[in-house]
Amino acid sequence: MYTYMKRPLIAGNWKMNTSPAEGIALYKTFLEGKKKGGFRQELEWLVLPPFTHLAGLQNLGDIQVGAQNCSHQSKGAFTGEVSVDMLRDLGCRYVLVGHSERRQYFKEEEEELTGKVALLLESNCIPIFCIGETWEEREKGSTETVLERQIQEVFGHFKAISSEVVFAYEPVWAIGTGKTASVEQAQAAHAFIRQVWTRFVGENKAQSTRILYGGSMKPDNAEGLLSQKDIDGGLIGGAALDAEAFLNIARQFPK
Ligand code: PEP
Repeated sequence: MYTYMKRPLIAGNWKMNTSPAEGIALYKTFLEGKKKGGFRQELEWLVLPPFTHLAGLQNLGDIQVGAQNCSHQSKGAFTGEVSVDMLRDLGCRYVLVGHSERRQYFKEEEEELTGKVALLLESNCIPIFCIGETWEEREKGSTETVLERQIQEVFGHFKAISSEVVFAYEPVWAIGTGKTASVEQAQAAHAFIRQVWTRFVGENKAQSTRILYGGSMKPDNAEGLLSQKDIDGGLIGGAALDAEAFLNIARQFPK
């Protein structure tokens, strides 16, 4: 049963940046900034630091801490992997799955992504499932085909999806490039994702599913994106390492 309300979500993906000590300092700067106010009250805050930072950031403040990845195996002889249970023990409720950098550099595909989502849902964790087209795919007019395939190839394996899933629409051509999707491009993609998701969870749940935009979001382009009907928050990479920029993006959520 869905028991959450649709709160806007801001999530900062730190990728492989900062030392553990720098991560604590950055987190504390966010806490200080957050105390000053000026943010939409129900805004949900999340940072996604490297695994090595998770223990040190636990219980430091009211900004949630999640993970950038997890293993698709539950435990055992998988050297170098980190399991969903380990992450849960460290207080992670949200875990990114299928970020385009993982798809591109680590060749993560259907089987691994499905395994990760299955373990997260079983453990009452919330996958932030990333999807998005490359520039070539957009130019060919296949954005919708790609988005639909990325959803279907993973969620098509589940009989019923009763726990929360968050989507992140991240056009690959906009990640870390300084190019952002226009508000029209982003809104159209988000509306399409919601329409596809309706087939999996029905109208009510699809309407209350959060779909984040990610791809070079910055203080000066966030307001237009975040005011779109189907954009329920942001997944922020580069700008999430700059406390002032991250806080200024958080200030752009419509009141
Ligand atoms: C990301 O990596 O999820 C991301 C959105 O990066 P950036 O904001 O740097 O484009």
